[in-house]
Amino acid sequence: MAEEAKLPAFFYRMSPRAQQCYLKSDAIDRYNFVPSGAALARTQTLLQALESGSLTAINRAAQHLVDEICRLMRITPLRVEIRGARPRNSRSELHGIFYPHERPPRMVVWMLTAQRRDIVRPKTFLRTLLHELGHYLDYAFLNLGDSFHTRGFFKRESFLVRSLYVAPDEGPRAAAKPARPS
Ligand SMILES: [Zn+2]
Repeated sequence: MAEEAKLPAFFYRMSPRAQQCYLKSDAIDRYNFVPSGAALARTQTLLQALESGSLTAINRAAQHLVDEICRLMRITPLRVEIRGARPRNSRSELHGIFYPHERPPRMVVWMLTAQRRDIVRPKTFLRTLLHELGHYLDYAFLNLGDSFHTRGFFKRESFLVRSLYVAPDEGPRAAAKPARPS
């Protein structure tokens, strides 16, 4: 079938249970989530803190935003840790990581590029934060039991970015608009 042909090769090497989880993840393209005014405001605060470059302020703002999203989704919050320069090896640099088995679970996101130590672009930073949160949501909100990088996973990540991100030039009026899933 054409649809199955798009699955990655490793899918066929996974256990039936993992395959089931993968397909379930792939089929969900958004969350039942409408951001509150507080979530939108906290996103803006985070992006402003990022601009300031203060790691303390960014950590506080990121935790604050994630707490609000978890509150809206009625799930236990996780620990958010923002660090400086991204670790890198010869081929790539690490943007973020999620530790599902810590109690509480924890995510780490880096805010500076590895080589030039530039602050990561705001929308990229938010996307990475929501990507790592997405791994947590696979367990805590969608109860998938595991977390894979499926097409559905990336659609859900984009859904969260669209729901929360407002470009700086769109101003506070735009920020007050409810999110429209497209
Ligand atoms: Zn990931």
